[in-house]
Amino acid sequence: MSDRCLRDDEGRVAALHRLDVLDTGIEEPFEKIVTLVRTVLAVPIATVTLVDRERQWFKAQRGLDQQETPRSGSFCTHTIKQQSAMVVEDARLDPRFADSPMVVGPPHIRSYAGVPLRTPDGYNVGALCAIDTRSRKFSPADIAILGNFANIVCDELELRMIAQVDHLTGALTRRGFIEHAEREIARYRRYGRQSSLVMLDVDHFKLVNDRHGHAAGDQVLHQIARLAEATLRPIDAFGRLGGEEFAMILPETDGAEAYEVAERLRQAIAARPMSFADGSTVQVTASFGVAPLTASFDAFPAWLEDADALLYAAKSAGRNCTRITAAALKQG
Ligand code: GH3
Ligand code: MG
Ligand code: MG
Repeated sequence: MSDRCLRDDEGRVAALHRLDVLDTGIEEPFEKIVTLVRTVLAVPIATVTLVDRERQWFKAQRGLDQQETPRSGSFCTHTIKQQSAMVVEDARLDPRFADSPMVVGPPHIRSYAGVPLRTPDGYNVGALCAIDTRSRKFSPADIAILGNFANIVCDELELRMIAQVDHLTGALTRRGFIEHAEREIARYRRYGRQSSLVMLDVDHFKLVNDRHGHAAGDQVLHQIARLAEATLRPIDAFGRLGGEEFAMILPETDGAEAYEVAERLRQAIAARPMSFADGSTVQVTASFGVAPLTASFDAFPAWLEDADALLYAAKSAGRNCTRITAAALKQG
């Protein structure tokens, strides 16, 4: 790996964002790895940490309360500047960390071993970490084990990116959806076939997670995907763009018809409390933006931007509603 990548933090952050993993939910492979690191290295804390521009965010973690912390004062911001593992045997004796909030306060880190997570193009986007609340040494064998697990994390980060189907909801992944959308734009250009894009974002989803737990939140996303499937035709495409944000491409559908489809799904979601395995239920709503395809969109990002602006308008209008421009609604 070149030293140039180590010095190029902008390029590094861009490489991290290309992975499309920040702020995503729990995924089994990363959960397994932090569990294994904790057991095999006998540490109370293990993390898959991704270092964003201003924060470090944990894709998976054991033994911590937070999902993210400021980048300054973090151990991993130093690990990613190295080619190889960074080991700190006693953080209180290391001037870089002695005053860190994570050392002087909870979780009271004393020792740390982190191996950089490197993308194929050579950027350290984060680190796999084993952390202890007492000072300790990490043997070369410990570091080798951590290095092997770090390689698996990197492979998983690549695999999840090329996946076309989202494991949680069965929807197309963002990548899969974008490929579909680009084909739809090409079809429009060649044959003039109309098509509409519908975006939806679950309202106050953070509250669902906060009140009922992340696993319940996952079930809500799964059930929304089932409702969408039941509403859509086989030729429609349904994708998860990220988090609790979904999108649909409806071929041969003008603005007015797409608005109706969006409204049908919105009402279906609002009408039915989502139920969990333990028998409890939660009522959620979603907001929608609808944008028919027009010649003004040169590529998918412009089309998506249009639908996203209308989705934002729906949020501003109080949520649980659908927005489309007057011109697009008359198109039908
Ligand atoms: P708004 O009505 O404005 O959309 O509010 P919101 O709370 O839905 O929006 P916000 O973007 O603040 O919160 C989205 C939340 O979705 C935060 C994030 O933790 C959660 N989330 C993202 N991906 C997943 C996932 O895969 N599973 C679960 N359970 N939660 C997720
Ligand atoms: Mg939301
Ligand atoms: Mg959102």
